[in-house]
Amino acid sequence: MKTKRAIEDLAVFGGQPAFQKQLFVGRPNIGSRGSFLKRVNAMLDQRWLTNNGPYVQEFERTLAELLDVRHFVAVCNGTVALELAIRALELKGEVILPSFTFIATAHALQWHDITPVFCDIDPSTHSIDPQCLEALITSRTTGILGVHLWGRACPVEALSEISRRHGLKLVFDAAHAFACSYRGRMIGGFGDAEAFSFHATKFFNTFEGGGIATNDDELAQRLRLMRNFGFAGYDKVVSLGTNGKMNEICAAMGLTELESMNEFIAHNYRNYRQYLKEFESLPSISMLRYDETEKCNYQYVVVEIDDKTSLVSRDELAEILCSENVIARRYFYPGCHLMAPYRERSIASGVTLPETERLAHRVLVLPTGTAVGADEISQICHIIRFVLGRDTELRKRIDEQTRFRQSNSPMSPDE
Ligand SMILES: *Cc1c(COP(=O)(O)O)cnc(C)c1O
Repeated sequence: MKTKRAIEDLAVFGGQPAFQKQLFVGRPNIGSRGSFLKRVNAMLDQRWLTNNGPYVQEFERTLAELLDVRHFVAVCNGTVALELAIRALELKGEVILPSFTFIATAHALQWHDITPVFCDIDPSTHSIDPQCLEALITSRTTGILGVHLWGRACPVEALSEISRRHGLKLVFDAAHAFACSYRGRMIGGFGDAEAFSFHATKFFNTFEGGGIATNDDELAQRLRLMRNFGFAGYDKVVSLGTNGKMNEICAAMGLTELESMNEFIAHNYRNYRQYLKEFESLPSISMLRYDETEKCNYQYVVVEIDDKTSLVSRDELAEILCSENVIARRYFYPGCHLMAPYRERSIASGVTLPETERLAHRVLVLPTGTAVGADEISQICHIIRFVLGRDTELRKRIDEQTRFRQSNSPMSPDE
């Protein structure tokens, strides 16, 4: 391990980067190549490449069983899964969702001319705050879109109760929460429908892919029609639809990944426990914890940098790590409500989400997954401990460098 002893050892100040290759938050987990290629060969022999092929059917049956739901409808990606759920449930007007989520949660609504109404979060869980939510309901509200962030269930009971009381539809973005449970029940069976993503960066991937889980037979039927142009048979179009089909090569990958899924989770869990242990004695970092009595995929290592106890900011730490080839990420910064195309409207209508904005300035997601092991984590944590332990010295150094840059920047006369 390349120990950092002096500030000059940091790559931002000219030292050798700790890693030769970049470490990512979501490097794809790859299952058995042999198993995958065997399926691909059989697929090519069959010449059945898409249109509800045998792998898609097997994938759907297996997932419905795994998630303990009546239906799993596989589609081409998680965003389309959300869009189809939204369309099939006939949402319109306004839908309430958290702002602290991946932008696709909001885009899936706006793409269908539904106004995303952003709600603040509970800073202790990072999930939507049901108390803020109720005040946002208007006569135009048709639904709630909850997000099981980081694989931890959002307040399912409170959202169900509110949606029942106001006659609203309830959909969950479960993109982070595949193979996770809540109160012993698999995520997938809550609300009217739950949408999953199997994008390459998720711990379980089908290259691109996703799907909708539901216990509603009629809804499942509508989703199946909608993902296939509304075709109910040859020449028979019975509804509006799009092309949201999952193809056979993606389903083959999904079936292959299922064989290794428990190993991926075990690896993520070991990484998670190691990070927890390494950060135990570091007061300026708090790490998000998972409820170990639930099933969990442990795919995100999420820390918050406390700017009251550290003189080095989250952004500066991220930059320092990046130069060491540790590609830590500020997730969901600055919050969906402040991203184009929602920013203008949020500012004009005076939307402020103090907890979301505070959290978006604190969160850093660290590399994990099967491409990252114990040695890498020791090294990453050593750098973080070094940086936060020398924050006074670093603060001085960064400020000096900033002043140096400013006084030497070649300014043109009319600037
Ligand atoms: C990944 C993700 C999506 C989008 O899924 P894609 O498969 O990339 O379209 C939606 N919501 C959340 C919270 C996600 O993390």
